Amino acid sequence: MPEGQVDVLIVGGGPVGLGLAVDLGARGIDTVLVEKGDGTIFHPRANTVNSRTMEFCRRWGIADTVRDAGAPPEFPPDILYLTSLQGHTIARIARPSHGGRQPLAHTPERSQRCNQLWLDPILRERAASFPSVRLSYNTMFEDFTQDETGVTATLRDLPDGAPRTVRAKYLVACCGGASVARERLGVAMEGTRVLSHHLNIFLRIKDLWTHHDKGQAAFYMFVGNTGRDASLIELNGNDLWRLGLAFGQERVPAEQIDVPALVERFIGPGIPHEVISALPWTCRSIVADRWQSGRVMLAGDAVHQHGPAGGFGMNTGMGDAVDLGWKLAAMVEGWGGPSLLASYQPERQPVARRNVAEATENMQTFTDTPDMTGIDEDSERGEQMRAQVGAEILRNKTKQYLSDGIALGYRYDASPVVINDGTPPPPDTAMTYHQTSRPGSRAPHAFLADGRSTLDLFGRGFVLMDFGGDSAPIAAAARSRGVPLEVVAITEPEIARLYERRLVLVRPDGHVAWRGDAPPDDALRMIDIVRGASPDIVRGASPDNVRGASPDNVRGAVSAEDATSRTDTATMAH
Ligand SMILES: Cc1cc2nc3c(=O)[nH]c(=O)nc-3n(C[C@H](O)[C@H](O)[C@H](O)COP(=O)(O)OP(=O)(O)OC[C@H]3O[C@@H](n4cnc5c(N)ncnc54)[C@H](O)[C@@H]3O)c2cc1C
Repeated sequence: MPEGQVDVLIVGGGPVGLGLAVDLGARGIDTVLVEKGDGTIFHPRANTVNSRTMEFCRRWGIADTVRDAGAPPEFPPDILYLTSLQGHTIARIARPSHGGRQPLAHTPERSQRCNQLWLDPILRERAASFPSVRLSYNTMFEDFTQDETGVTATLRDLPDGAPRTVRAKYLVACCGGASVARERLGVAMEGTRVLSHHLNIFLRIKDLWTHHDKGQAAFYMFVGNTGRDASLIELNGNDLWRLGLAFGQERVPAEQIDVPALVERFIGPGIPHEVISALPWTCRSIVADRWQSGRVMLAGDAVHQHGPAGGFGMNTGMGDAVDLGWKLAAMVEGWGGPSLLASYQPERQPVARRNVAEATENMQTFTDTPDMTGIDEDSERGEQMRAQVGAEILRNKTKQYLSDGIALGYRYDASPVVINDGTPPPPDTAMTYHQTSRPGSRAPHAFLADGRSTLDLFGRGFVLMDFGGDSAPIAAAARSRGVPLEVVAITEPEIARLYERRLVLVRPDGHVAWRGDAPPDDALRMIDIVRGASPDIVRGASPDNVRGASPDNVRGAVSAEDATSRTDTATMAH
């Protein structure tokens, strides 16, 4: 049980809390994570670790471990739509860009399948490896109060410890869909609370592929006369599977499900199987109206929940964690300005709204044929129906499974700590990701002459990518404000073209904060904006009305919470 003082207290040891603990640990920030469970994962949830989360794992030194866990690289990541494993094939969606080590043009890290059964323990081990991080399992977070200097949290050792308190400078609640912290803050979830009820059955089936002729695939999606019937999802490329059932508005208890009958119907008769566990879950489409209150932040499922179609949930939460990691470190280390944390919601809430909308659309879109009677028939009518529905599935569903645009193309357009240069944004589409150094975007990937990715330069302090510009005024401004900044001179012309400007300032999370061909007239003012200390942002004044920022007028600023409401993008001439 942790006692006394800590810089950051994280509630929840799911992937988002653990990801944040790793990010803070890598920055040497004194962190305690409390988790009410003992760390055992009973049931498989997220499988898709998208390219962006894999890039974070690369930064954290665990990409290889994640890649090696779960399904082996030769296991096909494809999706097969079938009437049943013993029946007919309707469509195959191939995913040549998923899995394995071969880099893609825009990322060194392909999307991988690694279920939380293995991902969470990998994150846990990495978090525990940092001397500044303490993980406290079997510890319930019960309540908190906050004041101007910190948060006092009430914790209890399970099963029957006495309540104790810990004092933290900041609290991040990553405690999932039923967040106590969210409830205490009176945060409302906006959207549809119940889209549908589901049941997942975790199964062990040995050598499944010897019982059918459809070949290996990551997902088998079963389609009947009226639409989707069930899904069977591969977990370890061997004997572990998850059968998913949807019940619409009706909630069906696990005890009422005849698993052997379902296995017989979708998989085949007489196939030996073991039921490991069953998990009922509710599909929602909701985003929190507030993500921060003073020194308390909410992240992950605590602020956004949606269906699994597309595999965005955990990945969106990891983006929250990475957005918070460097900002919390900046506050603890003293170079973050009073409105830096207030940029968290304007940056991440629009991303969550975008991803929740996309996942909800994925849950709803299927085929254009409402009545598929005869789809499983061994007849000409059946064949025609399968050809028609198969074409519709390819047209409507491919973007659900190939979504690099969702994974990598999110931008912080409304951020008060990003300096918009007025250029038009690239299209934001689910499938296609356009590399750009436009401020607010993920900084582009390219391989340097020494074999590293440009992404390998990011993660600690700010990085000023220098393609032959005058970096000195910006470096001096950062030094005078105590902001960690490294100038990296790059000579490769193709990388210079990709980065589009002579100077590109990249934040510790790998997003572009500013770019230009020459340093701004007032480099101090620029540094103050990106560290959340500009009086323009803090006082709500127009940035263009203020020339320069002195430490004195920054110190007299209003609180981070007051600044939360300001979400317009900073702009400045350069
Ligand atoms: C069927 C299914 C499939 C999915 N597939 C994908 C996918 O492919 N890709 C993807 O990105 N996402 C997927 N998701 C979503 C993903 O599982 C979640 O988004 C993710 O687990 C959220 O992580 P989290 O850390 O925010 O919350 P959680 O994983 O819910 O973790 C919260 C933790 O907080 C702890 N906790 C709660 N309250 C307290 C308290 N008071 N004190 C101490 N500890 C507390 C809980 O015990 C829990 O361990 C899927 C979800 C489901 C249901």
